[in-house]
Amino acid sequence: MSTNDEQTQEQKESQVVGARWTKRELGRYESDDRVVQTLVIIGGVHGNEPAGLLAAEKVLKALEEEQPTGFDGRLVVLGGNLPALNSDDKNARYIDYDLNRIFVDEQIAMPADTSVEHGQMQELLAALRAIKARSDRMIVMDLHTTSSDAPPVAVFEDSIIARRFARQMPLPMYLGFEEELGGLVIDRVTNELGSVAVVIEGGQHNDPQSVAVHEAAIWAGLHAAGILRVDALVHRRAPGNILREAVGGQAYKVFDIRHRQPIEHENFVMCPGIVAGKVVKQEVTVIAIEAGKEIKSPVRGRVFLPNMQAHKRVGDDGFFIVRHIHEGWLGFSARVRKQEWIHWIIAHLPGVYPIDDGGHGSLFVDRDIAGVLKRQVFHLFGYRLIRHDQRNGGHGAMRVWNGIASFCKAFFRGPIPGGPDRDDPRFWIVRRHSLDRPSR
Ligand SMILES: [Zn+2]
Repeated sequence: MSTNDEQTQEQKESQVVGARWTKRELGRYESDDRVVQTLVIIGGVHGNEPAGLLAAEKVLKALEEEQPTGFDGRLVVLGGNLPALNSDDKNARYIDYDLNRIFVDEQIAMPADTSVEHGQMQELLAALRAIKARSDRMIVMDLHTTSSDAPPVAVFEDSIIARRFARQMPLPMYLGFEEELGGLVIDRVTNELGSVAVVIEGGQHNDPQSVAVHEAAIWAGLHAAGILRVDALVHRRAPGNILREAVGGQAYKVFDIRHRQPIEHENFVMCPGIVAGKVVKQEVTVIAIEAGKEIKSPVRGRVFLPNMQAHKRVGDDGFFIVRHIHEGWLGFSARVRKQEWIHWIIAHLPGVYPIDDGGHGSLFVDRDIAGVLKRQVFHLFGYRLIRHDQRNGGHGAMRVWNGIASFCKAFFRGPIPGGPDRDDPRFWIVRRHSLDRPSR
């Protein structure tokens, strides 16, 4: 709580700069009892995406007014990139750096005044660490919106407990983005703080429906976190129905990332008819034109998050290719990754070498073998690719033959004394999802 003097000062400042979002913590609602569960809502990590914060304000207001019985836990709402949110430029995603790409050790170690976003990152991280320290369990939902008009989705690192949380919302689920995009807020929360963290893309930036979707997602999140049963919200439309309607038949479908196409030239345009969900053939379908050159996908799958912004920058995401994962495959994956003996065998296969990384359990995998197994086999067993390349393991019988050949080569070569060099590009690096590891 601020004193009257401080409030007056704050009001003055907001009048001067027209700032709407002045505090890191926008509000909280908590039960009086011992707090076990905390749901943290982060909104506006991108300055041009205030929909999540607008939704969170509505939820806080409703909780204050309705005081629902059975609320057991804490809801905290944090603002993301405050200077970008308050910018006069309503299209400002960030000021100096994309805040959702810098949550990595090297950047966190830099002084807070390195850039606007380094300061924002330090504050946000300090807030999250403090909340975590005061909670038995913390779950984070990071609310975003997209440039293109697309149905809402949930994005998260594929651990079994994150799946269990996300599956309580009728949204399509997208896995593996942390492998292609470094420095995500949810990556930090998952792997440093050991908490389930989910991004919700609520729809198009300026669509009022995106606020309604995020509001429903927050109510559903409170339910999924065990803080408030949604059936306690008697005079409100069921949040599950709002989400189900918004995703139009996509609820609970799971997609795995297979490729990210970075923009290498500002003259990058998606081809007509290439929209989110469009099925594309490997090396056949022309997806975009970049500086007069046709861009195809090195893998088959569906287009996701096609970049429809009028102004593109080098290094931005052009598009992603994802693949639908069948329900049975997911159940199988959940069962096998719980078997510790399987992880022991994987770590002792020819061509696989454990990395001494302070107990994170990372592995080097000979890229000849990794390229044949490909991403999906590592994902099946619950491994995340930390470093990989786009080598093609071949097709059909050729791929099997390549696999056998490289396996035999590694078998006869035997162990590498002292292990491979960390920087040796002949090895992929993979690591089990930290939330799946029994040490947690
Ligand atoms: Zn965003």
